Amino acid sequence: MDSIIKVFKFGGASVKDAEAVRNIPNILSHYPDEALVIILSAMGKTTNHLESLVDAYYHSSDEKVNILKDISTYHSNITRELFEDSKHPVHAEVYLLLRKLESTIIAGREKAFDSKPSFDFIYDQIVPYGELLSTTIVSYYLNEHGCRNQWYDVRQLIRTDDSYREGRVDWDFTQARINELVRPVIDNGTHLLTQGFIANNQDGKSVTLGREGSDYTASIFAYALDAAEVVFWKDVPGLMNADPKDFSDARKLDQISYWEAIELSYYGAKVIHPKTIKPLQNKTIPLKVKSFINPGGDGSLIFHETSGDARIPSYIIKDDQVLISFSPKDLSFIAEENLHYIIGIFIKFKVSINLMQTSAITFSVCVDNGDNISKIIKELQERYNIKFNESLVLITIRHYTTEAIQEMVKDKTILLEQRSRSTVQYVTSLFIKMFFLLIPQLL
Ligand code: ASP
Ligand code: MG
Repeated sequence: MDSIIKVFKFGGASVKDAEAVRNIPNILSHYPDEALVIILSAMGKTTNHLESLVDAYYHSSDEKVNILKDISTYHSNITRELFEDSKHPVHAEVYLLLRKLESTIIAGREKAFDSKPSFDFIYDQIVPYGELLSTTIVSYYLNEHGCRNQWYDVRQLIRTDDSYREGRVDWDFTQARINELVRPVIDNGTHLLTQGFIANNQDGKSVTLGREGSDYTASIFAYALDAAEVVFWKDVPGLMNADPKDFSDARKLDQISYWEAIELSYYGAKVIHPKTIKPLQNKTIPLKVKSFINPGGDGSLIFHETSGDARIPSYIIKDDQVLISFSPKDLSFIAEENLHYIIGIFIKFKVSINLMQTSAITFSVCVDNGDNISKIIKELQERYNIKFNESLVLITIRHYTTEAIQEMVKDKTILLEQRSRSTVQYVTSLFIKMFFLLIPQLL
């Protein structure tokens, strides 16, 4: 009889220290009869640390040595806490991975990569170490605590094109590899444990799938294996209507549709990697988001249109936003041609637009602040008069109510507003209002 396949994704917080890793067998013990594909993220905030390492490396900053040391100490400490026997093979494997990372970093760019590679390429050769380390440690640990699993290098299974940092999956190749290599493991009654977020291109170079890409990896496996369900194990009770770090009264969304989940991630809710939903929707595979602190809890269910669909307001806050407005110097209308030209420049510099609005002679966009903004402005300033405000906050409310709006914008200056039937968005500045409020006191 075919076994029921479930795909579990454990995010960074669920493997952030030895105690968190010790909790995983406990979670898996609730699923004695299922064949599991276990996808792991890097431990804790390792991906952020590796990003700083890439930055330091790329800019030849001495800081790279300290960052590398912190990453090494963090992983060695967790390994030592979990495996007291200093002769255990896991120590040598972790050591080897850390040395490989170190030799890449120390060698200098040209030597390590035989050429003058792009930032994105280097990023993708370095950042995967986070997932390689976490899966090595956790696989050994689970094998010794009642969860027999086969570790796999996911780069043998998932193939993408050359779009570094946002690899696009070659589905035919990936499906064939999963059939060939993963099916037999599962049929043999062994769980498969592998890395999220990373893949290979056809030249055997690592490619990442974008931040939070482990979600997408889980969805790729679920699709290819026709899984019964996918579960994301997180440090929150489920999908929340706001980030609990910003909102003390954040509530759980019990059930939402695939559609709603896509909308939420589009507006920047860091709930799920945006590419995750489509493969699941295509095969009607339910996605659950559950708490690893309370594995017996209901969590959230993302599935096709459900009657219990949550319609309570959801809040998405994006800070460090920039609002840029373009007006053609020749006073021409903002119509197809101008839009085409301006958006083309944003595509060229890979800056995605969070919100856009047009009027007769002005086109405004709200984007995340970043290095490429000044390049875009430089390229467009000959044809357009440009206005620019930074340090702004983009507030999105799905399923807004009058009270929800009042509560969110009451003490803020609104620079731009956009409203549809289901969603309202504000580009706001706390600072401007505060500045004016302060003036009378300064006088
Ligand atoms: N470790 C990667 C990140 O932090 C991928 C993931 O967690 O999904 O973005
Ligand atoms: Mg994560």
